[in-house]
Amino acid sequence: MANEKKIPYKIYLEENEMPKAWYNVRADMKNKPAPMLNPGTHQPMTAEELGGVFCAELVQQELDNDTAFFEIPQEIRDFYKMYRPSPLVRAYCLEEKLQTPAKIYYKFEGNNTSGSHKLNSAIAQAYYAKNQGLKGVTTETGAGQWGTALSMACSYLGLDCKVYMVKVSYEQKPFRREVMRTYGASVVPSPSDTTQIGRKILAEHPGTTGSLGCAISEAVEVATSTPGYRYVLGSVLNQVLLHQSVIGLEVKAAMDKYGIKPDMIIGCAGGGSNLGGLIAPFMGEKLRGEADYDIVAVEPASCPSLTRGVYAYDFCDTGMVCPLAKMYTLGCDFIPAPNHAGGLRYHGMSPVLSQLYDDGLMRAVSVPQTSVFEAAEEFARVEGILPAPESSHAIRVALDEAKRCRETGEEKTILFGLTGTGYFDLVAYQKYHDGLMDDYIPTDEELALYRAKLPKID
Ligand SMILES: *Cc1c(COP(=O)(O)O)cnc(C)c1O
Repeated sequence: MANEKKIPYKIYLEENEMPKAWYNVRADMKNKPAPMLNPGTHQPMTAEELGGVFCAELVQQELDNDTAFFEIPQEIRDFYKMYRPSPLVRAYCLEEKLQTPAKIYYKFEGNNTSGSHKLNSAIAQAYYAKNQGLKGVTTETGAGQWGTALSMACSYLGLDCKVYMVKVSYEQKPFRREVMRTYGASVVPSPSDTTQIGRKILAEHPGTTGSLGCAISEAVEVATSTPGYRYVLGSVLNQVLLHQSVIGLEVKAAMDKYGIKPDMIIGCAGGGSNLGGLIAPFMGEKLRGEADYDIVAVEPASCPSLTRGVYAYDFCDTGMVCPLAKMYTLGCDFIPAPNHAGGLRYHGMSPVLSQLYDDGLMRAVSVPQTSVFEAAEEFARVEGILPAPESSHAIRVALDEAKRCRETGEEKTILFGLTGTGYFDLVAYQKYHDGLMDDYIPTDEELALYRAKLPKID
């Protein structure tokens, strides 16, 4: 083992080794992700239609399935320098503790104030909005990481930021809310009475604790009805995966520098942006037939869109105002049980990842939440970092694999994405410690109810 420590505990790239362009994995996909459809006509959304919702430059990125590299504007690269490169950590302590012959690496994205990888796309989206001369942006946030990242980016660039926050998080996570307000964002609990769709949902489901799908509808309604505003989204979209490719490109550059090749790449998957970003250059090699990797998406058993959903066109939001996207989905009305504490609550999955998964280029597993918190704690006690519950889904699968290698003696290299820290999730940790957390897993009958309501597209 001593010999092996030639690889540093933390690998950082030099400034001149950092990526200068984002990588668009769609350029190398034989089967492209299906286009978004207009919810009224069921025809592919045009750039003009999308331009009413998103900034022009981001619409181009969203629709471009052919350009492999998009140069990262200098202003965004300068912002990245404030918190990137993020460390690629060789988990020597964890390996030692597990007595595993496996080599474990994680890419840690929690080293910025927003506490997650979401800042990588937030700054890009805010930059393009500013560049277009807009006044502000609207968005939704679930647990609050995206809203936090976006409000940081907006305050940096002097843009107004309106955040619709899923009501259950707004109430359970006042600290995140206050971070956003500190950065100057206005934060509204969703559903709210400030929008038509919010008022409709409140009338139909009084006492609802809200959902991401519902908050998206509200944010889109405000963006499209307020001059000088556009809507931005923190996951799922092709453009977000493009920006997040900075994660995977840094990992690839760092690993190449030390001659490391991961056998297995693991990431948690909610809407799919961190995983899509982490795997991008590796998946590119796989698509081009240059290398092979075992790529694993990990999702909560309580919100299992890849493992138990269907691959179909669905609405991205509860209010059905957004375009239709073809993705693995549980149905746009699906809301995970209220006891679900681990994030990754979205009903659908990135169209890019959905297509890659459907083509058998990656696999997916689901894990129950108590086992996720158990893994989080095991990790925190040896590596020191208090992981976000979302990230801990990936930790669970990495630990299981490393323990399996202990039995088989396999010296495989495992890489996982540690997407963020869990300091704002301590109520969930408390529930786990107090034995008050349970594992609600939806029944087939329940899932069938939501599936039956999928739009019919021929
Ligand atoms: C938002 C978030 C995720 C999930 O989002 P993806 O788009 O699936 O990556 C994972 N981890 C953290 C810390 C997050 O904030």
